[in-house]
Amino acid sequence: MEILKQLSEANGVSGAESEVRQVILDLIRPHVDEIQTDTLGSVIALKRGTGGSDLRVMVDAHMDEVGMMVVGHDSNGMLRIVSVGGLDTRLMPGLRVQVGPDRIPGVIGVKPIHLAKNGDMDKAGEFESLRVDIGASGKDAAKSKAPIGTRIAFHSEFIEGETTARGKAFDDRAGCAVLVHLLQGEPFPFDLYASFTVQEEVGLRGARAAAHAIEPDVAVALEGTIADDLPKEDDESPTTRLGAGPALSVVDRSVIYDRRLNRLLTQTAEELGLPVQFKQPGIGGTNAGSIALSGVGVPVACIAVPCRYIHSPAAMLSKGDYHNAIRLLRESLARLDESVLAQPV
Ligand SMILES: [Zn+2]
Repeated sequence: MEILKQLSEANGVSGAESEVRQVILDLIRPHVDEIQTDTLGSVIALKRGTGGSDLRVMVDAHMDEVGMMVVGHDSNGMLRIVSVGGLDTRLMPGLRVQVGPDRIPGVIGVKPIHLAKNGDMDKAGEFESLRVDIGASGKDAAKSKAPIGTRIAFHSEFIEGETTARGKAFDDRAGCAVLVHLLQGEPFPFDLYASFTVQEEVGLRGARAAAHAIEPDVAVALEGTIADDLPKEDDESPTTRLGAGPALSVVDRSVIYDRRLNRLLTQTAEELGLPVQFKQPGIGGTNAGSIALSGVGVPVACIAVPCRYIHSPAAMLSKGDYHNAIRLLRESLARLDESVLAQPV
């Protein structure tokens, strides 16, 4: 949980992931044989195998999170913003935010309820009509504190409960944390390439370049994914449910996941007595989509930690799902060899 907390509280809106990258480099350096940061800013680390397998295995998690970017300044010192990645406009008014690398405190402007007219309350409005207020006295002050391009992240504290944890950016710091745990453990027979990639939230971009560099035989994407499981009882098809185990995927908008790998994952879960669930097919996309179409093509799987209120300042995950994702990944990779890929697709 300490690793997840550290990663969750670091800011890394797409294209400005350096703070998260630094945390990751410090966490993994003693546990890997080689590290490089590629041109786009993704971290690619090699944990050399003990021999016995020639497979090149890539495990990916994206470092970036959704947030906002400054695109202009009003004469009264307000910051004009656009969203970076998918944000729900309804959630935004009144939120506390952190602006830029110095974490200047700001708030997303909101009209006092006293002045709200009938109808104001139930319309979300355009994202472009929102402003961030950092208390700047005018246009020039705003410009010098938060020039165009400055990233803005949610201000959010990590909180650990008895069975759950709450915080921002679990998509995909949950995946990053699972990958850090994997690297901190024992090596595998094969060479393990860990990629902590940039710019997933704006189009699965960093992973495309990373996969090109790694040229893996097989890849697993780690994610924090949507859990729309409330109310529970009568909903036949929630995306995933909290506490029902790590989520695997059959198909989403980015890729069809490899059946041999999903068989390996479900069989491993069964042997260990771990719960797993399948995410409702067809929704969202992951870096697996970019990786699968790289080079000569790569069989891919995804292991995701279900998160309620994803892409908000207060996502919630089950500590059980998180620990089981770590175990499922490690134990499945321990069972991965050439024979798995020799099966018909
Ligand atoms: Zn994600």
